[in-house]
Amino acid sequence: MTYGFKIIDELTSGLARWMDEKEYGHIADFVGRAVPNVTDWQFLNLNYVVKARIDQQLCIQCGRCHIACEDTSHQAITREVDGHRHFEVIDAECVGCNLCVQVCPVENCITLEHLTAGVDPRTGERIDPAYANWTTHPNNPNRAAAE
Ligand code: SF4
Ligand code: SF4
Repeated sequence: MTYGFKIIDELTSGLARWMDEKEYGHIADFVGRAVPNVTDWQFLNLNYVVKARIDQQLCIQCGRCHIACEDTSHQAITREVDGHRHFEVIDAECVGCNLCVQVCPVENCITLEHLTAGVDPRTGERIDPAYANWTTHPNNPNRAAAE
């Protein structure tokens, strides 16, 4: 078997396993389901604040989250605390990009917490749970006039 065919075999068996888990019988059952989630950037909710959370009981201290955040995102995960290897999210830096969740090898070890009250430790701004986007943002000189 050539390498190319092996990759296709793995893709199809992986897809079949995922469909079984989700109880999909046919490809057509899920094609296009994510399309309604696509939107223009200016309509993203600027008030949506999330922070990553690491479950210390599940963490195997592999360090992948630290490396990913350090090199690619916002340097928001510790590597050492009080002289000990320890991975913890620094809320004042975390932008909730989800990258650490993607690289963590332990399922549900890192989750994202949606904050709805208080002050965002990163921006110092009070958290507003209401939806607000760029079309009405004060920094936008072309924002729609408030009604
Ligand atoms: S969500 Fe992004 S910014 Fe926050 S800790 Fe994870 S990788 Fe870093
Ligand atoms: S990637 Fe996951 S398991 Fe590894 S150190 Fe980070 S939180 Fe712990």
